[in-house]
Amino acid sequence: MASSRRHGTGTNQEAVRRHNLATLLGHVHRSGGVSRAQLTERMALNRSTIGDLVRQLDDLALVSQEVPEAGATSRAGVGRPSLDVIPDPQSVIVLAAELGVDMLEVARVGLGGSVLERLSRPTPLDHDPGALADLLVDMAQALLAAADPGSRLVGISVAVPGVVNDVDGVVRFAPNLGWSDVDFRASLAERLGGDARVRLGNDAELGALAEHIRGAGRSHSHLVYLSADVGVGGGVIVEGQPMRGASGYAGEVGHQRFDGGETRCRCGNLGCWETEIGSYAVADAVGCPQHQMHLLQEYLRPGMPVTPELRRLGQHLGVGLGGLVNVFNPEVIILGGVLRWVLPLVREEVHDALVTWALPAPAQEAEIVVPGLGGDSVIIGAAELAFGDLLADPVATLQRVERTPSLS
Ligand SMILES: [Zn+2]
Repeated sequence: MASSRRHGTGTNQEAVRRHNLATLLGHVHRSGGVSRAQLTERMALNRSTIGDLVRQLDDLALVSQEVPEAGATSRAGVGRPSLDVIPDPQSVIVLAAELGVDMLEVARVGLGGSVLERLSRPTPLDHDPGALADLLVDMAQALLAAADPGSRLVGISVAVPGVVNDVDGVVRFAPNLGWSDVDFRASLAERLGGDARVRLGNDAELGALAEHIRGAGRSHSHLVYLSADVGVGGGVIVEGQPMRGASGYAGEVGHQRFDGGETRCRCGNLGCWETEIGSYAVADAVGCPQHQMHLLQEYLRPGMPVTPELRRLGQHLGVGLGGLVNVFNPEVIILGGVLRWVLPLVREEVHDALVTWALPAPAQEAEIVVPGLGGDSVIIGAAELAFGDLLADPVATLQRVERTPSLS
């Protein structure tokens, strides 16, 4: 290899090979298993090149190859049997965290996107960043201690209910945590030590990413995902790519002024949409006391009587969605968080308000659905962010990880 590098083409070939290796790993990770014949077709490379790349990923213990079960059709469909390439979920792992207003959830997620283990703890009431960082690191260490001894940790990501700067990772504003300009990434990195690569992302944006890759938005290039807890945020995918804005702050649809709204929002303004459709508004509409928010889902079970207040909330949801339909022309709007329980109860109210307020043409195309990943969209999205380095360059990332002492 050293001799070929003296000539320019060797370096180029090496770059192309690493690019192909990363692309192939991305296909296997996202599909959860794919035949070599499908890889040949998708990557437009010949069978022997695909075979070499798969062998290299196999040598790195990232994938395994299986002969399709007798009698079963290969993932390639009809034709010659083709080996299935399967991601190894224990071989490389990430830690993904979802920082909610009431709960902190941390999961160990394997290659292929499978949640291997998760822990949940109530967040400290004052949302003190230092106390939250301590808690998150404790949970992370417990999850790593229980991991397969051979597992390699390739990334750590945290989904935050607020706007996060693209470049420096600082949480610029998370009104429902009471945070302004909190460098939570630095707090975590300091506690984790070493070369810990911590990434932060906006919760709704990560939810949109996960639903696009693995959930209800899989076959769509234009979608909006709403995260809905106390606050409501939006993640937008346009032409298959996240729409992030100039600094990563785009999508804060919960802070749009809702006509007639009189409730003070935690952002300081009056009548933001999230005060009309967020979890506190939902709790009020169904009579769930605010000190029993953990029971809210019980009030929204299928078949529960629908109160007039919940019908009105459904209308307010539909009016706001109509605005999103006009602006983004999505194929699908995915309602996450508490709204995934609200939608089935007031689907008609949501639909009627939407078609009243949206223009007819974009309204015809937009389908309103619940997440394909249930309550896991955001944490799976955080895992996707944490896998970013590995999927960009598996060889370099594994070399770096092997040089870095384990977290635990
Ligand atoms: Zn607001």
